[in-house]
Amino acid sequence: MSNFQIAIIGAGPAGYFAAQALQNSQTDDLTFSIDMFEKLPTPWGLVRSGVAPDHPKIKSVSKVFEKIATSDGFRLFCNVELGKDVTLSELQNNYDAVVVAIGASKGRKLGIPGEELKGSLSAAEFVPWYNGHPDFAKLNVPLDSKSALVIGAGNVAMDVARILALEPDELEPTDTALHALSALHESQIREVHLCARRGPEHAAFTSPELRELPKLEHTSIFISEEEIIEAQSRIRNDDSTESENNKNLDAMLAIAQSNKPKQNRSIEFHFLLTPIEIKGSSQVEEVVFKVNKVIDGKVQSTDETFSIKCGLVVTAIGYETDMFEDLEFENGRIKNDAGRVSGENIYVVGWAKRGPSGVIGTNKSDSSEVMKLLIEDLKSPKVTTDIEKLLSVKGAVHLSQEHWQQINNAEIQAGESKGKPRIKFTDRDEMISFKNV
Ligand code: NAP
Repeated sequence: MSNFQIAIIGAGPAGYFAAQALQNSQTDDLTFSIDMFEKLPTPWGLVRSGVAPDHPKIKSVSKVFEKIATSDGFRLFCNVELGKDVTLSELQNNYDAVVVAIGASKGRKLGIPGEELKGSLSAAEFVPWYNGHPDFAKLNVPLDSKSALVIGAGNVAMDVARILALEPDELEPTDTALHALSALHESQIREVHLCARRGPEHAAFTSPELRELPKLEHTSIFISEEEIIEAQSRIRNDDSTESENNKNLDAMLAIAQSNKPKQNRSIEFHFLLTPIEIKGSSQVEEVVFKVNKVIDGKVQSTDETFSIKCGLVVTAIGYETDMFEDLEFENGRIKNDAGRVSGENIYVVGWAKRGPSGVIGTNKSDSSEVMKLLIEDLKSPKVTTDIEKLLSVKGAVHLSQEHWQQINNAEIQAGESKGKPRIKFTDRDEMISFKNV
């Protein structure tokens, strides 16, 4: 019988699904001891700090994560950062294989003038801010102007636009971070503009997200009926368009044609606008776009410009994996061949492997495919030393699954009397103090 020691770096969906695939592959002759390392004091990755608080059903996958984490042979080491508390080569030496599941937490940049102005943020900052990620709890989010602008037409752009435009009372029964909830209550923003560089037929958001917009009680949704009808006629001549695009157009047309009474909050969709400059003296005041046209099925820039005044602009145009030494990067992700990373016994899964695409469930099949390769590559188990000794020599303070369960219970308990699923801790030291409970 062979028992292999596997290290998984990153306690997000891809990491948990990698652990599950290994657990499910165990036989009488092959078993795995899995150690999962997470740089934050809490696990669950994007399920905790990415998924929108008004989408609680998506978060129920955390039950699956907890089942994996409480299975035999699994240990959690939170508050342990790769490169700082432990190095990749230390993990390579102490484990039979290392699975890198570090996601993609850096927002892509537009690369246009004014992007560094106060009031210009990435969704990679704004989303973890409202979700209580400790590194973003003190983010300065100017909400004192009437208009905000969101750049991008994916589901993240949609989440950001919705959170900015809804009546904050609608977030009361959610686990939105308290600092964000009180800032949103004070917010002066009433108009949110969502701006896409291509036409409605090429929007990356999905139809269920569109269909939930009209359910926002206090927010009007403006989409130009004429633009959607034009887009529908364009795709009738284009066989390459996928059915998801058709569903999106149907959902957008239904919104455009609805006659819900006008509310004092709104989300307005704008298409065929490429941002070229963010203007402002010390803070964002206006975003300037080049107007595009679709000619023979291709998006082409015109000489015309268009601008929207706003005090906040959030870019939601994709993510990159945060680089760290010892691994090669390519196109914003870790260089890999179907999940195998060059160098001995290293594998990559999730967004760090394939880029920022797919829903949480996509990681299940993706991680499982990579774990098949990992198992194929295994030879005989190494003689390893326990990582706990190494961490204690290095003075790293780690939180275990038991500590996390105490944090989790305390958060849920704090939420109970307020009618919320939980109230998140947002301070690292407060969470680390559970080490002494
Ligand atoms: P995404 O779906 O790839 O969308 C990115 C958007 O940014 C696209 O509209 C893209 O336009 C635009 N963009 C890229 N570069 C740009 C530039 N330089 N200027 C202007 N626009 C630019 O990415 P995402 O929204 O970050 O979402 C990531 C993944 O998470 C997706 O698979 C998404 O479905 C998933 N997710 C799911 C949910 C949910 O299930 N509710 C929620 C959030 C996220 P082009 O198409 O023109 O490049």
